[in-house]
Amino acid sequence: MHCPNCGQQVSQGSLYCRYCGKALQEEVVVRQGGNIVSTVFGVLISVIEFSFYVLMLTLRIMMSVLRSIF
Ligand SMILES: [Zn+2]
Repeated sequence: MHCPNCGQQVSQGSLYCRYCGKALQEEVVVRQGGNIVSTVFGVLISVIEFSFYVLMLTLRIMMSVLRSIF
């Protein structure tokens, strides 16, 4: 299935889009009363994933620089 907000492909049955944090099953979210908290949580996960990506990219660049030196 695809996120109606950003159009990215998300796994079937996901409560939230892992790319933009949009709640995909709003009825469930409203019933649980955690819409804002869940959205914040989704954004937080995205930020963590992005930070991890940047970290890995930095490590890769550092490794290539070290290899060119030695
Ligand atoms: Zn999305």
